[in-house]
Amino acid sequence: MVTGAAGFIGSHTATALLDGGWMVTGIDMMTGNYERNRKEDNIRALMAHPRFEFIERDVASEEFAESVQGVDAVLHLAGEPGVRPSWGETFSTYVNRNIAATQHVLETCLAARVSRVVYASSSSVYGAAETYPTSEELIPRPISPYGVTKLAGEHLVSLYGLVHGLSTVSLRYFTVFGPRQRPDMAIQRMIECGLTGSAFHVNGDGSARRDFTFVGDVVRANLLALEADVRPGLVVNIGGGEQGIELSDVIRAVGELLGRPVPTTSAPRSLGDPLRTSASIELAARHLSWEPRVSFFRGLEDQVAFTQAKSRAE
Ligand code: NAD
Repeated sequence: MVTGAAGFIGSHTATALLDGGWMVTGIDMMTGNYERNRKEDNIRALMAHPRFEFIERDVASEEFAESVQGVDAVLHLAGEPGVRPSWGETFSTYVNRNIAATQHVLETCLAARVSRVVYASSSSVYGAAETYPTSEELIPRPISPYGVTKLAGEHLVSLYGLVHGLSTVSLRYFTVFGPRQRPDMAIQRMIECGLTGSAFHVNGDGSARRDFTFVGDVVRANLLALEADVRPGLVVNIGGGEQGIELSDVIRAVGELLGRPVPTTSAPRSLGDPLRTSASIELAARHLSWEPRVSFFRGLEDQVAFTQAKSRAE
């Protein structure tokens, strides 16, 4: 089962599982964090697959238990993503979808004797990390409400592993990119601004650095985590393995790939976004035999080409 199957990472994960011969149930309640038609596009090809079943459902609902009956493993990717909107009134949505929903998924998986639960955690748990590349040993200190809820979800996942013996693995993804990236994420906004000619808002001076991870590499980590022989409650970084790429370099590279510069306008630095992220990926190599394969610029070419093709078709 993949929760959040109509989302960016979930839809790619479900596709890879089908390619690997699994039967897949995709669950998604189609939240309004971005347009429903983008999510429908994400799962269009999946819907036609004979080994795929889609259920539009909240993982926090009572009916979720019915869907989990007979399921071997759950990749729990459903959640409310995004740092900026997690401040203010919308925080309760983050609490419900990232903490309460995760606890409900864990209880349901325990009762249904699911043999492995993989949880989509986030580099945002580290906040403004004190050391780079950041290893899992560092005490996480999120600097955004989103990061707080992802960390609380991760603690619950580890707790059900340690106390109840539920076989869980948390993967801390570092800024995932590639085809179908969420429209609120920086690279996708940049590409869409470049295509339409509208201005991309650069928050801060453009020197913020991110460890970008290609979605195909994240999907491979998800599949490895499904079957790896590891202790319950393991937490592992999944990062692109480069030292971090500056936002201004990404804007330039997108412009080169589009054949015209991305128009930009400056905006204040947003609260809760760290200046830098960079993952130590030694633990992922040791426990999952995983390492990234797709370089940032190679992956960027894919995302730009995918978005161009989609906009031509519309
Ligand atoms: P996404 O918004 O594209 O996908 C999440 C999906 O979950 C959405 O389609 C949404 O409708 C669904 N959903 C949310 N709450 C639900 C609920 N209660 N029941 C059923 N469905 C629900 O986001 P994404 O970028 O694919 O992120 C997937 C997961 O990975 C999230 O948990 C996110 O926090 C985590 N993550 C993402 C990134 C990244 O860079 N994209 C980085 C770190 C962690």
